[in-house]
Order: sequence, then structure tokens, then C-alpha cells
Amino acid sequence: MPERLDPTPDGLRRAAELLAAGLLVAFPTETVYGLGADATNPDAIRRLYEAKGRPTHNPLIVHLAKAEDAPRWAAEWPESARRLAQRYWPGPLTLVVPVGAGIAPETLAGGSTVGLRVPDHPVALALLALLPFPLAAPSANASGTLSPVEAAHVLASLGDRVAAVLDGGRCRVGIESTVVDCTDAVPRVLRPGVLTAEEIGATAAGFTTGGALRSPGLLDRHYAPAVPLRLVSRPELERAPDGVARVFFGAPDCPVGEHDAVLPRDPRAAAAALYATLWNVQSRATAIWVEAPPTNDEWHAVRDRLSRAVVPS
Ligand code: AMP
Ligand code: MG
Repeated sequence: MPERLDPTPDGLRRAAELLAAGLLVAFPTETVYGLGADATNPDAIRRLYEAKGRPTHNPLIVHLAKAEDAPRWAAEWPESARRLAQRYWPGPLTLVVPVGAGIAPETLAGGSTVGLRVPDHPVALALLALLPFPLAAPSANASGTLSPVEAAHVLASLGDRVAAVLDGGRCRVGIESTVVDCTDAVPRVLRPGVLTAEEIGATAAGFTTGGALRSPGLLDRHYAPAVPLRLVSRPELERAPDGVARVFFGAPDCPVGEHDAVLPRDPRAAAAALYATLWNVQSRATAIWVEAPPTNDEWHAVRDRLSRAVVPS
């Protein structure tokens, strides 16, 4: 069984010791739990891809203790990255820049850029501060499945494939960071998150503001719960058959059953509760139907995750 560590000085020291030996330690961040490995150690990174079953063409985000460390790992530190790091780090924002020396090429999936982030979580920052290397850390779950927002989710998804889990309680932001490409003159969002393109002065990729969902069949299946998930309109949701767990954004007019969940009709609050809710209902239903969220920019990240969790029909 993996070691379950409390975020005490002893627990943090033990986590650092395992990581320095090239092993995998899951730790809490403000977004989701990360599966940490020494980003400079090719063996540790290979172990990480294997533990997740992650396709090796999907690069890893590298976590740093402080913004001042970023130029050390970048070949260039563009003005846009400097400005965004200053404004939003520590925080749920990953900046993609040309990679410098020292990061294992396996971390970058063969690319010449690196995604850097300083997480806004006291346990993650305390752990990073103990380490002489940065931590590559994707979400601490089997590739393609629901991301973990509690230590128990990590254990349920990865079991013995992780050496230890640092337990820092429930993650506050609840969905993965906004990823921004800073290698061009105008920063461009590669993956939406709770920090929106408009807020950070970047151009949006993928969905356009106010646009419709892209066809689920065209999207990578990702973030998927253990049972089939569908996105439906509220009237359809109100008429869902028995046995289906329903997820509403805002209280519905119809009665709410014990397997149903009502999430706040506020995009950040809904994001914070989304994965925890899906983890909860996936064990109690044969299918999950979720109300299609609004199509404005603030809901972009929640729409993105849900559309990738849909089972193509
Ligand atoms: P995950 O680790 O599962 O949260 O996903 C990390 C995501 O960050 C990847 O799927 C990419 O979209 C993005 N990413 C990380 N590093 C890079 C990079 N060097 N270039 C472009 N995108 C990146
Ligand atoms: Mg992930």
C-alpha cells in the first residue's frame, strides 16, 4: 500500500526523500492532486507515464517553488510570461515557454517547450521548497479518468502505482490550470481554466466566446467518470429516467432525488465542486446526465471538461 503522509514536517521530509529516490508522490495543489516526479530524472518520468498509462506524446507541467526559479528552466523568459507570472503566480496558470537545460526530455514529450507553474497551495509549496529539483506533476489519476480532488481519489485511481500520498484535504479550485502558450507575441490559451482568456489578456483557442460546444465525437475522451456521462438540456434532464444521476447547475423546479446533485450556478463555485460531485455519483448510478452549462467565457473551463467526459454516441 502507498504511504499516506500528513503534511507535517516529518511527512514532507519523507515525501521529499521518496521523490529524490526517483519515486512518485501525489500531493495536493489548489487545482487537483498532482502525481509528482523529479522533472530532471528520466527514470522517474518514465515511471510516471507508466503509472498513469499516459500517452508519451502528452507533455507534463513542471511545478516550481517560486516565480524567480522560472528563468532557470527556460531558454527564454518572454515579457508576456514575466507579466503573467508576476500577476497570477502562485496560481492556477501554466505558462508554456522555450525550455532551457536540465529538464528531462521525457517530461516534454519530445517538444522544445516546457509548461511551468507555481501552485497556490501551502503543502505543494512546502514540498517544492525542500527539493533541489522541480516536480513534473500531471493529475494523480489513471489517464483519461476523473481527476482527483481528495487523497482518497488518488488511492482509488492509482493504488500501488504511487509510493505515497500527501493528504492536504479537498482541492480549492477543483479543475486543472489554465495553460497559456507564451512563445508567440500574443499569449494563447491552450487549455481553459478558471482564469479566463479575457481576464489574462490572451486569445482563446478551441471554443470561441459565446460559441457552442464542439461535437463530443471530435474531442479526446478525458476526465471521464466510471459510468457514461451525457450533457443534456435542463428540460431533458428534468425528464431523465430512473437510475440516472442528474447534475444541475442551480436548483431545478422538479424534485431532487438522493442520487442527484445541485451545483452552484456560478462558474468558479461549480468548477470547485465538479470533480468531487462526479466522484461521488459515479459509484451510485448507471449513468450521469449533466445539465449543459451556459456558453459564455466564464463557463468555458467547466464546459471543456464536461465535453471531454462525454461518451461519444
Ligand atoms: P495534465 O498534466 O493532465 O493536467 O495536462 C497537462 C496539459 O498541459 C497537457 O495536456 C498540455 O495541454 C499542456 N502542456 C503541458 N506542457 C506543455 C507544453 N510544453 N506545450 C504545450 N502544452 C503543454
Ligand atoms: Mg489529467
